[in-house]
Amino acid sequence: MSSGRKLYVCLRCGKTFSKEDMEYISGVKCPYCGYRIIMKTRTPSAKRIKAK
Ligand SMILES: [Zn+2]
Repeated sequence: MSSGRKLYVCLRCGKTFSKEDMEYISGVKCPYCGYRIIMKTRTPSAKRIKAK
């Protein structure tokens, strides 16, 4: 897959998640803690996140 996958990081709990995760909860906020201040980030390695 592409190595430039966009990820977001929550500035509160520090967890990273994808755009799809946010769309799943239908809102621009952290799917883990609900915090609304998030930042775009990128993973240098092609680390796979386990999807359900
Ligand atoms: Zn969070």
